[in-house]
Amino acid sequence: MDFKQVGSKTVAREILRNVIKCNHCGDVIESKHAHDFKSCKCGCVHVDGGLEYLRRGFTNGEEDYEELSEFGKEFDIESLLHVAKS
Ligand SMILES: [Zn+2]
Repeated sequence: MDFKQVGSKTVAREILRNVIKCNHCGDVIESKHAHDFKSCKCGCVHVDGGLEYLRRGFTNGEEDYEELSEFGKEFDIESLLHVAKS
């Protein structure tokens, strides 16, 4: 599950694939489970976290990689909390 801010709301997204492409060597790397740490050929970027969370490592900045991850359903956290309370 990944979390993003949409306006004042926090939205959780189901992670289907955790994939990035290195913009330096062109290597496409995918983390398949929580402790599946993958580096690209040139070692500039890495992914980790599998379908649990998105962790990225880079050398220069976020322009080092292209995001290729796929996401499934989105959940509004506040409405989930509301449901849990009632
Ligand atoms: Zn690379």
